[in-house]
Amino acid sequence: MSAPFSCHRRRFLQWVGGALVWLGLERLATDRRVAAATRGPESDYAWAVLVDLTRCTGCNRCALACKTANRLPNPEQVPTGLDSGAYSFVAEYKVAGDSADAASVFVKRQCMHCLHPACASACTVGALRKTAEGPVVYDAAKCIGCRYCQYACPFGVPTYDWQNPLGLIHKCELCRERLAENEKPACVDACPTGALQFGRRRDLLRQARARIRSNPDRYVAHIYGEHEAGGTSVLYLSSVPFADLGFPALPDAAVPEVAEAVMKQTPTVAFTVATLATALHFVMKRRTAANHH
Ligand code: SF4
Ligand code: SF4
Ligand code: SF4
Repeated sequence: MSAPFSCHRRRFLQWVGGALVWLGLERLATDRRVAAATRGPESDYAWAVLVDLTRCTGCNRCALACKTANRLPNPEQVPTGLDSGAYSFVAEYKVAGDSADAASVFVKRQCMHCLHPACASACTVGALRKTAEGPVVYDAAKCIGCRYCQYACPFGVPTYDWQNPLGLIHKCELCRERLAENEKPACVDACPTGALQFGRRRDLLRQARARIRSNPDRYVAHIYGEHEAGGTSVLYLSSVPFADLGFPALPDAAVPEVAEAVMKQTPTVAFTVATLATALHFVMKRRTAANHH
């Protein structure tokens, strides 16, 4: 009578042991993936964009060119926010100047292509990663739709396509396909005023510093993105404090470090949810593969 029970128990213990080993290996692999995904570029030679808000007229050509380049719907319609149909938009802020009338400052927004991206750090399956060339890129084939990246991003960039049950996250990838063809990002190409400039991060920082030095009345002495959240590949110059334009005041520490500190406080919950999501992903993948055969 007890033999089958022992047998079952042995099998159960073997299964649990196997599951624990798998969980341990998965955890190790996840840690390695996170480390690889969030590693910043080796040098400041990575590509970047400098946005000079003092030169932006709010014409929206960048945002429309972005839609066309990414083959997004309604390419003629000016976007008013980030969503699965718009990876960039231009926001207008009224700021009080010397005159009685408030002046407009236009702010082009898109992914900041952080040097140590929190989105990639939060992604348990390596669907987001920072490339050595600069762009933070997304792999829809790996994404399980958990939306951790959305919660982690300090700039509110990744958006989720609720209309599509499979998916998925949408965001600017710094026109990675165009970069591979030695072309500038579409938004930079379309800007008629020179408000957007494409180049190596190090060179753009040098230029930004020179502009502030030679025009101290035109610019606030702050290059947004030089240090915020560990640095970003999209840098901004402005005539008014960035706090007045909705830019978050972030510490110089990379956000993944902050996120990891929080994760460490809830390792079991975070790990369990991530593991279940990963397991579900593989089950779905197997089923999809089986249906195709
Ligand atoms: S801005 Fe957000 S989505 Fe873009 S790289 Fe940084 S953390 Fe990721
Ligand atoms: S780099 Fe490309 S995807 Fe990103 S905002 Fe510009 S045009 Fe859009
Ligand atoms: S195309 Fe240039 S000037 Fe026009 S809204 Fe975009 S950044 Fe501003």
